[in-house]
Amino acid sequence: MSRFPGVDYIEFDSLLSEQELMVRQTARQFVDERVLPIIRDAYNNAVFPKQLIAEMGRLGFFGANLEGYGCAGMSNIEYGLVMQELERGDSGLRSFVSVQGALVMYPIHAFGSEAQKQRWLPKLQSGDAIGCFGLTEPGYGSNPAGMLTKAAKHNDVWVLNGEKTWITNGSAADIAVVWARTPEGIRGFLVEKGTPGYSTSDIHGKLSMRASVTSSLHFADCAITEEHQLPCAKGLKSALSCLSQARFGIGWGVLGAAMDCFETARTYTLARKQFDDKPLAGHQLVQEQLAWMITEITKGQLLAYQVARLKDTGKVEDPHISMLKRNNVAMALECARLSRDLLGANGIMDEYPIMRHMCNLETVKTYEGTDHIHALVIGERVTGVPAYR
Ligand SMILES: Cc1cc2nc3c(=O)[nH]c(=O)nc-3n(C[C@H](O)[C@H](O)[C@H](O)COP(=O)(O)OP(=O)(O)OC[C@H]3O[C@@H](n4cnc5c(N)ncnc54)[C@H](O)[C@@H]3O)c2cc1C
Repeated sequence: MSRFPGVDYIEFDSLLSEQELMVRQTARQFVDERVLPIIRDAYNNAVFPKQLIAEMGRLGFFGANLEGYGCAGMSNIEYGLVMQELERGDSGLRSFVSVQGALVMYPIHAFGSEAQKQRWLPKLQSGDAIGCFGLTEPGYGSNPAGMLTKAAKHNDVWVLNGEKTWITNGSAADIAVVWARTPEGIRGFLVEKGTPGYSTSDIHGKLSMRASVTSSLHFADCAITEEHQLPCAKGLKSALSCLSQARFGIGWGVLGAAMDCFETARTYTLARKQFDDKPLAGHQLVQEQLAWMITEITKGQLLAYQVARLKDTGKVEDPHISMLKRNNVAMALECARLSRDLLGANGIMDEYPIMRHMCNLETVKTYEGTDHIHALVIGERVTGVPAYR
């Protein structure tokens, strides 16, 4: 049994099927037994725990909500629960799984040729191959439509020039899904490690997402054949549809980080005594903070659950996912800050997971569409007026 009791204030679990509970339990146990014992050192030493990759593959975590090619074919609720448990371990671990499944396997599955699917999906599913997703550039983050990376066609060969940056798994990846401007608009390409003209360099000095590899990708007259283009990826909307898959997983994932912060604060304040030998948890202001946390986590769970149901029935729209990602990340970040506060001085120590979650969540707030950009998506949805420019 897991040491983590879960966070369930309004019998949320009664909404879940036996199968969904079982999937969550598998992920929960994996995180308790395999992630928590090593994550503090991995984070402090700024290394991704790659020894976990094969096991995550065997457990079906990569491309878990895709069908065929060895994928687990999970429902979106099952997939979300896996993301939740992984991010309870660490956002860097959940990022690895999000990138592999939502940003690499999904575009190959949705936009790839049959040969590309056969070649890459089974290997990516098992973790025998690692992928990355190159969209962001040094000059274009929130506005990827301005990208400068170009792909020019000479007979049957595409030649890529440009740079991508802030790419999760970049230098570790066997295959990069790269978005580039062509005369027919933005297109997606599969660039394999070792292709002449393609190189990577890691970004060092991160104080967030330390247990995750982040790199820049460089393309200097990098020539690839036509078979490396994703034939059905047309325009930026194809790239953005991958981001929607990943953002959905983030909306669930950050619930796990928030739950870990809540549970850490709850148990700590019950044990720690101040003033008249009274537990901190017995003071009104402390209870107010715990009440805020569990209320917001519960609202976040219900939002995630409904968006997953919409996704399972083909009714989800991007603005739904924007609300899920934006709300739950902001909520998790506030839970981390409140939890840190409730632990007092101990809250800054790496013996507790809180500062690690807090620092990670600063990245999660920024990547996959910043908090502001998702506010603008929601704003456009309710007014009909785009306000991005
Ligand atoms: C650890 C990490 C991993 C990442 N992994 C990947 C990856 O795997 N692949 C990938 O392609 N990218 C990745 N990214 C990049 C990430 O998606 C970008 O950082 C993000 O899109 C924001 O872009 P930016 O950093 O250039 O910020 P900017 O776009 O410069 O934004 C800076 C600030 O300005 C605000 N802003 C921008 N435009 C507007 C506007 N119109 N109105 C109001 N406010 C605005 C933003 O909200 C933000 O607060 C990663 C980033 C990090 C930190």
